[in-house]
Amino acid sequence: RRLDSRSGLSAGLLGETQTPISPEPMESVYEITGELGRGKFAVVKRCIEKATGKAFAAKFLRKRRRGRDCRAEVIHEMAVLEAARNNARVVNLHAAYETDHDIVLVLEYAAGGEIFDHCVSEELLPEVQITRLIRQTLEGVHYLHQSNLVHLDLKPQNILLTSPSPPGDIKIVDFGLARRLGAVGELREILGTPEYVAPEILNYEPITTASDLWSVGVIAYMLVTGESPFAGDDKQETYLNVSQVNVDYSREAFARVSELAVDFIRKLLVKAPEDRPSAAECMAHPWLWQHPQLCQSPDLGPTRSLRDRNCGMKWAA
Ligand code: ADP
Ligand code: MG
Repeated sequence: RRLDSRSGLSAGLLGETQTPISPEPMESVYEITGELGRGKFAVVKRCIEKATGKAFAAKFLRKRRRGRDCRAEVIHEMAVLEAARNNARVVNLHAAYETDHDIVLVLEYAAGGEIFDHCVSEELLPEVQITRLIRQTLEGVHYLHQSNLVHLDLKPQNILLTSPSPPGDIKIVDFGLARRLGAVGELREILGTPEYVAPEILNYEPITTASDLWSVGVIAYMLVTGESPFAGDDKQETYLNVSQVNVDYSREAFARVSELAVDFIRKLLVKAPEDRPSAAECMAHPWLWQHPQLCQSPDLGPTRSLRDRNCGMKWAA
């Protein structure tokens, strides 16, 4: 963060937004009905649009943080959401408001909560659901990467579901740490939660799209086993576990899934970023396509599976 705070450009921050930022009080348009989440600089509240009765999630982002003006960072988060607007795996931005203290992003409401709940629950999801959620996550990540965007904070708390049970479709949220790659020079930052971030981020080495794929590996591990692969008793131990890629694949928890699950996760949790598969390469992994009957889509007819059309996405060559 230190190196990059000097100029928005070298920090990979976006500055242009299209959604008008209204100075009206959002409370005149929405009724706030409860709290959905809370972070260091943001509160997310559930609200109802009075005119339509539709539910939304309003993310109140503080403009001043640690005595510093952070409006540019908030505008950046908004601009990233706009850049990913056409992708169904990224939460949609509906409207924006500004008060003296906050910028409020009114977001599509994900009624199913965080996939984190499925990583810590007594009852883990069946493998066929896990692979569906991982495929959808990879679709979103692939879209971001094609737009030269890296999320850098992918974790089970930032992957939400449209409905709770059976789990609906995923929505990627929280683009506060996302960056645009390749603008000027290298991107090196220390950010994210150590448990979920790649070794190159902890070591202050250049960040690439591969950093997000590490996090996808951590998420897959957690959905399968219900355990966080690198979490130590303290921060020091977690750092060490990540940088030594100290992962336990022997767990009985893996007995409940196919061997392909371990193969998939092993390919992502590798130290050298250049040795990790891309999102598009991951999509071709056989673990994600073990249940072909679930991949069929009526509008395509019985002979073409979703795999053939890559989930409706055009993959880069
Ligand atoms: P922070 O930057 O504070 O982590 P997030 O954008 O991750 O903020 O939001 C915090 C939490 O609020 C999320 O982990 C989730 O539980 C909830 N949340 C955020 N956006 C939505 C949404 N669109 N629908 C439902 N819940 C949401
Ligand atoms: Mg978050």
